[in-house]
Amino acid sequence: MICTPIAAPTPADMLAALPVAAATADWLELRLDAMHSLPVEAVLQALHQSLPRCPRPVVVTFRPREHGGFRDLSRADRLRFWHTALTTPAEAFDLETDLIAHLLPDYPPDHPVWARVVVSHHDFHATPADIHAFALAHFPPHAGAVKLAVKVNRPDDVCRLFHWLTGTPSTWQKIPVGMGGLGVLTRILGPAYGARWTYTTAHDGQAVAPGQLTATELRETFRLPSLDRHTTVAGLLGCPVAHSLSKDLHNAAFAHLGCNWVYIPVEVSPDNLAPFLRDAIHPRTRRLPWTVGGYSVTLPHKVAILPYLDRLTATAARVGAVNTILVSGQELIGDNTDVAGAMRPLQQRFALAGEPVAVLGAGGAAQAVVCGLVAAGARVTVFARHPARAQDLGARFGVPLAPLDDFHGRRFTGLVNTTPVGMAGHAEGACPVPPERLEGLAWVYDLIYRPRHTSLLQAASQQGIATLDGLPMLIAQAAEQLARWTGQDIPETVLFAAAERALHGFSPAS
Ligand code: NAP
Repeated sequence: MICTPIAAPTPADMLAALPVAAATADWLELRLDAMHSLPVEAVLQALHQSLPRCPRPVVVTFRPREHGGFRDLSRADRLRFWHTALTTPAEAFDLETDLIAHLLPDYPPDHPVWARVVVSHHDFHATPADIHAFALAHFPPHAGAVKLAVKVNRPDDVCRLFHWLTGTPSTWQKIPVGMGGLGVLTRILGPAYGARWTYTTAHDGQAVAPGQLTATELRETFRLPSLDRHTTVAGLLGCPVAHSLSKDLHNAAFAHLGCNWVYIPVEVSPDNLAPFLRDAIHPRTRRLPWTVGGYSVTLPHKVAILPYLDRLTATAARVGAVNTILVSGQELIGDNTDVAGAMRPLQQRFALAGEPVAVLGAGGAAQAVVCGLVAAGARVTVFARHPARAQDLGARFGVPLAPLDDFHGRRFTGLVNTTPVGMAGHAEGACPVPPERLEGLAWVYDLIYRPRHTSLLQAASQQGIATLDGLPMLIAQAAEQLARWTGQDIPETVLFAAAERALHGFSPAS
C-alpha cells in the first residue's frame, strides 16, 4: 500500500537505499531516471544488479523530464530501455501513456507483461474535467493498473478523483494521486478506497512530487494500514498547515482510544474555504465518500468561516471566531475550544478573579484569552502595537487598550503574550517587551509552544516570576475538541507524550 521512491544518482547509492526504504515501505519504486549521468545501458545494468537484492516488490520507473522525471531522454532512449527492462522479473513497470503505442508491435495487448504495467499520466497544472472520459481515452484496456497524478486546485478535483476511484467500474487497478495541498486526502485515504498504493517522499525524505508525506508519517502518524471505508475523517483547515502539531495529537488520541478515526490537516486557501466546506464537510452537500467527525480551524479561516456555518455555540459567538467544527445531524456548528484551552492551564496555576492582567497582542488568540480572562473576573488591559486595530476587541469585551510601549509589569499581577514574537521562524529569540519591564509581575504566560522556553519566559524565570508556556493550551484545546467529537475523554498525558515526540529537539517546560 505504501510505495517509496528511491531516487538515487548512482547504482551504489540505490543499493544502499534499498534496505533503508524497505523498512517502512510495502513497495519500492526504482526511479532509474534519477541516474541522470549514466548512459541507458549502465542504468539497465544497475537494474539487473539491484533486482535480486530488493527486499520488497518493485515498480521500475524511467521518466523523462517532460513527464516530471529527472533527466532528458529521447523517445528512442526510452524505448531502448523498456525493451530490455520489460524482460526483467520486476513486479511492476511504470510506463507513460505516450509510449504505449510504440511498444504494441513487440508487446501486443495479450502479452502477459501488461498485467505488470502501470500506465501513468502526470499533469502538474490541473485535473481533467471528465476523469472517466480522460482515462478511457488515454489508458489502454490491457494495462494492469493506471496512475493519474494530477494537480488538484479545487475541492471538486478531489471529489472527481475519488469518484473515479470508487464509482467507475474498470479492469484496471487505479492509483489516483492528487498533487498539492488538497491532494493529501488522496494520499492518505486513497488505499482505503481501493487505490493500489500511495506514494511517499523519496527514501531520503525529499519530495519527488508536490504534497508527498514520508512513509513513517503515513504509517505511524496516520496509521494508514489500518484505515478503511469505515474510517471517520477529522482534520484541520488552514493555510499553511504543514507545521501544525494537531495531526500528532489527534491521531495519537485516536490510536489510544482505539477509534477508527484519522485526522488529516488540509491546506485550504481562502478561495477554497467555501467549496471545501460544501464538497468535503457539510453533511447536506458533501460529495466525498466518508463520514466526517469534525474539523479544527486555524489561520486564516477562524473568522472567515462564520457565514458558512449553520450556527455557533455560545462561546464561539462570544469570541467571534471558530476553531472547531462540530457535525450534528445535518448541521455544521462552529465552536471555540481556544477559550477553555487557554484558561484551563492558567486557572490551574493562578488566581484570576479581581487581578489586573495585561494581554500583549490583539489577534485571534487574544480574542479567546480576553474572553476567558474577563469571564474569570480578571481586570484586563490589552497592549497592542496598533491599538486602533484592536478597537473591536476592546469594545467586544469592554476592556481598555494601550500602546505596547506603555506596558509596565508593576501595574499587573499577570502577563499573557499572544503575539508571535519569540516563535520559531518569527523573531525567535526576541522578547515582545523589554525584560526589565517584567519587574513586579507574579506570573507570565506565553502562548507560544515552539520553542517552549521563549526569551520572554527565560527573562521572567531569571527574575523569579512564575511561567507557563503554550503547550498546555495546545493540549487542552485539542482534548476539548476530541471530547466534543468523540464523546470520550482523552488523558492529557497521551497528548503531551505525542507533542513531546513531535517537538523533539525542544526542551520541556519548567
Ligand atoms: P494573529 O491573529 O496573527 O495575531 C497576532 C497579534 O500579534 C496581532 O495583534 C499582531 O498585531 C501582534 N503582533 C504580531 N507581530 C508583532 C510584533 N512584532 N510586535 C508586536 N505585536 C505583534 O495570530 P494568533 O492566531 O493570535 O496567534 C498569535 C500567537 O499565539 C502565535 O505565536 C501562535 O502560535 C500562538 N497561539 C498558541 C496557541 C496554543 O494553543 N498554544 C493557540 C493559538 C495561538 P498587528 O495586528 O499589529 O499585526
